[in-house]
Formats: sequence, structure tokens, C-alpha cells
Amino acid sequence: MKEELLFVRHLHVEFQHGGQKEEAVRDVSFDVGCGEIVGVVGESGSGKSTVMCAVLDVLPQDADVSYEQLWIRGGKSSAAMVFQDPSAYLNPTIKVGRQLIETILLHPEPVTEKATQQQKKNSRKRAWEHAEKLLEMTGIRNPEEIMKRYPFELSGGQQQRIVLAIALACRPSLLIADEPTTALDVTVQRQILDRLKRIAEETHTSVLLVSHDLGVVAALAKRILVMKDGEIIETGTAEEIFHEAKEQYTRELVEAARKHGSRSQDKRRISETILFQAEHLSFQYTKFHFLKKKSTEAVQDVSFFLRKGESYGLVGESGSGKTTLARMMTGIIEPSAGQILYLKERWKSLQKGRSKAQCQKIQMVFQNCAQALDPKRTIGEALTEPLEIRGGGMQDVWKTEAAETLFKVGLESEILEKYPGELSGGQRQRIGIARALMLKPELLVLDEPVSALDVTVQEQILQLLERLQREQELTYFFISHDLNVVRRICDRIGVLYNGRLVESGDAEQLYREPWHPYTKELMLSTLTADPKKMRRRRNVPELTSRGGTGSGEENGCPYADRCGYVMECCKKERPELYRFEDREVACFLYSEQHSGKRSKEYRMASQI
Ligand code: SF4
Repeated sequence: MKEELLFVRHLHVEFQHGGQKEEAVRDVSFDVGCGEIVGVVGESGSGKSTVMCAVLDVLPQDADVSYEQLWIRGGKSSAAMVFQDPSAYLNPTIKVGRQLIETILLHPEPVTEKATQQQKKNSRKRAWEHAEKLLEMTGIRNPEEIMKRYPFELSGGQQQRIVLAIALACRPSLLIADEPTTALDVTVQRQILDRLKRIAEETHTSVLLVSHDLGVVAALAKRILVMKDGEIIETGTAEEIFHEAKEQYTRELVEAARKHGSRSQDKRRISETILFQAEHLSFQYTKFHFLKKKSTEAVQDVSFFLRKGESYGLVGESGSGKTTLARMMTGIIEPSAGQILYLKERWKSLQKGRSKAQCQKIQMVFQNCAQALDPKRTIGEALTEPLEIRGGGMQDVWKTEAAETLFKVGLESEILEKYPGELSGGQRQRIGIARALMLKPELLVLDEPVSALDVTVQEQILQLLERLQREQELTYFFISHDLNVVRRICDRIGVLYNGRLVESGDAEQLYREPWHPYTKELMLSTLTADPKKMRRRRNVPELTSRGGTGSGEENGCPYADRCGYVMECCKKERPELYRFEDREVACFLYSEQHSGKRSKEYRMASQI
């Protein structure tokens, strides 16, 4: 029989809002065994985080909490929490080493009185050594160096590892991880989850893993609780939940997560006309560091084209240059080199005189529409604003157009009078799409349009985008860090790494058989909502660093220090883009020198 570490019976939480009571958690009962990893899934607002905060007793004062039993073996101090946004948790003005050491000193090892006297003398030194060990445990390379840095000098993945190390410094027997990898790239996400699993196994720590992403839970949890509207509606082993769920809602969640990773069956007519062309685009940022000018190439020599009616997906991790490329396409920034052609005509940036008529043809949809909308303006005002800027026409006509566009994106015209704060995340994203459609564009640049949404809402938005594309013959440039989403909706995919296009080709072929080692790394890191498949997958190799070449030479392959296939030449020269029919790949494994002399009939296949 399992020994319980956390025991919760009949937990209720209510919040007071303007004299009114709102029930956030209703009659929740569950337990977590020693060393067990339990997943908690459910959409935003289902009460997952409220339950976790109630367990740790960190809910705000207006929360009314009641329960029959709620205890953690060893008390609440034996539990620690890892949050979604590590930057909000770390103090930006204190070096990470000090933040970690202070936590270690607050949670010393239980020792005898005699030993304590001895240890007190060199407790800081011991704490420093322990901090290094914890950072190594969470996968931080060179911990001594990292401890001397401020949080803002670290990447999102490094910050999350630091937060995990701080949580482990509390020597918890229960670790609550609330959406611990939601804001991270797929490669980093997979590594953090692998680390979490290893730590739980090695230290016999119990983990409560909260996520709206079923892939994350499938990768780790043995047992799963499904929450909806503040209640636990189903519990079971990972296999039961993913393959034999009893509740309709659970089946819908699993179905949406599976669909999310499967190819759309939507058949469209794609014209042979090339609508948009990017030719050798580059963009350089210039920064001043200690009065020295430093140039960074955010995008380097990127070329691609979009056929009319086609969906082109661009994948890559944060900082790979995806958004910079989108900003050049929409004319917001001027390329440092290269040119943009629209129906073979050269287009300038806004600054250099892109006309209003040209601007109308390419519109952008942002990741977080809540931030893109003015909270003080009604939806009607937000939708008619682009028409106002364009000028011409009557206000009454604009309103009718806004109502018609709302209908196209599946919303009722009553929403015109509402404010962004009154809408759900999915509705706001529909408004973002509607706003982009107001000027009747031909090309939509969609920058992570579904990343911030729950999986069921993601599916609805993707279906909406497919329908709009069919009805209005739109062309999509779809940016995402998630290969599953891009595969679902796109005809072709380009993979961007460190500002360079390292592979491009047919979406399905690229997904089934990646050619570039980085594309393969992305594929291995992609999570699927199937615990059996996830268990069969081996761990993703740890990254050694981000960007730059391992050799320290600027001219080598940018992926050399992460590549498992690296050769001597990779450190000295940069591979060109080798072309094979529709496929392009920038890797020496595809040069004649390395794959052998080829006859005309030779058909290249993946070399990895
Ligand atoms: S060129 Fe070399 S280092 Fe770069 S991806 Fe290919 S094998 Fe790896």
C-alpha cells in the first residue's frame, strides 16, 4: 500500500468579489504518494493553480478556504513550488548565487548540536558547494560562472533551472511544479522535464505537475487528475486517462491534444503564382556595450517564397530571428541587406515609403492579442481603427464591416460594445484575427497565434484559420516554436536557427524525416499526448550552449556546439544551403564531399 505524502479531503475555495462569492474550487479530494509523480490537467480557469496554492497556504486574503483534511507529511515547509514565469520569481537585483545560497542557509540539513557548532563556522562555504551541486543537478553547465550572474543575464531555460534549484534547496519532499515549462522552447522544455523526472527518481521527491498541456503530463506523470470548473472530474493512471477515459470532457481534451499533432485533412487549391519573395534578407542590431559598438546579426541571408493560398510555417526557438523576419515582411523594420518582392514588385519598408495600399495587403496577428488591444477602447473601436487610419468611407459602413468580420471569425455583433477585459483568451484571439482581416489582406503573418491558448481553444482557432483561408484564399506565414502546430496547418516548413534558415521543405516530409540535425532535435523534443509513446522516447541530449560555434571561430556551422554529427570542417566553414528538389538543407552531411559523388538519378535521403 502506498504511503501518502499529501492528503486532501473535501477542499473548497471561494473568493469574494465586490461583495459576491465566487466558488473557485469545489469538493476536491486527492492524495499523492511518497515519490509519486501526479499530473493535474485542465483548461485555464479550471482551478488547478488555486488548489496548489491552497495546499501551500499561499492564497490571497480574500480567499475563503475550508476542508475536512489537508496535510503534508513533515508539514507545509516540506513542500516547494516552481512557477511558470521564473523571471517574476527571481530578484533581478541580486546575483543568482546569492539567492540560492540564502535559501540553502534558511533550510539547513538536520544536524547534531556538536556538528552545528562546527558547521556554523563554514556554513557559507558549504552552502556555496551545495548550490553548485544543485545547479549541476538541474542541468546547469558551469555553475560557478552562472552563480555570479544576475537573472536577466540568463536565458529563460537557465532561469527556470535556477528556480528549480532554489526549490530543491528547500529539501522538499513534495515539489509542486505549476506550468513549469509553458514559456519555454520545446528543446529546453523537454530537457527540464527529463531533469525533473530524474531528480524525482534520485531524491525520492513527490511531484505534483500542473499543466494545461497534456503532452507535458504524458511525459512525466504516472497518475493524472482532470479538473474542470473547480472540480476533479476524473482520476486514473496515465494510460487510463489517455486511452480509456470515462468522462466525455477528458476524451475531448485528449482528442484535441492528439489532433493538435496530426496533419489537417483540409484540401485547398494552392496557386502556382508566387505572391511573396524574401531574397537574401539580413538584419543587424547594433548595441553599445561599455561605449563599444557591437553588431549582432539577428537574421542572416534568409530566402524563401510564398505561393498564393499557401501556408508556410517558420519554426525555431526564442531568439532565432522569427519575429525579426516577420517585422521585415510587414515593413516595420528595414532589412540591412536583401529585398522583399510582392508579385515580383520590390517593396520598401514603412520608413522608406511602403504605401498604405501595400501595407493593407500584409497584416499581422500577434501571440498575445490582449496586449495588442487597448483595454480602454471597445472591440468596435479596435476593429474600425485600421479603417480610420486608412481613411475613406463612412463610420456607419465601418461598423457594418466590423460586424460582418466578427461574424466571419465566429463572434456575435454584441461583442462590438464590449472591452477586451470582458472577453476570454480565445475570443480575444478571434478579435486579433478579425482586426487583421478588416483591411482585406492577401497575406497574414501569424506570430505564435495559438501559443498562449488552451489546447481545445487552439484547435478552434486553427480550424477558424483553415476555414478563413479556404473562403478568402488567404496566404499564411505562420510562426511557431511548436512543430506540432505548424505541421497541423502548413504546407511547407522552414526551420530557423540562430537567424539562418537551416532546412525547408514539404511539411509532412520534413516532419516524418528530418534531414538537419537541429530539425531532428526539435522533433525529438516535441511532446505527444500519449504516455506510451513518450516512455519509448529516449531523453533529449543536453545543450552545451546557445549560439556561436563550439570552436570559437565565427565562420563555422552555428549548430556545431550542439550537433551530435559534428565534423572537423563544421568548425571551420559555414555550410551552404544544399538544394534537392523541394528540400533545402544547410549541413555538410549533404555536400558531395561527405555523401559521395552523385549521379543525376540519385535521390538524397536523410543522412541522420
Ligand atoms: S554542418 Fe556539421 S555541425 Fe552543422 S549541422 Fe551539419 S553536421 Fe552538424
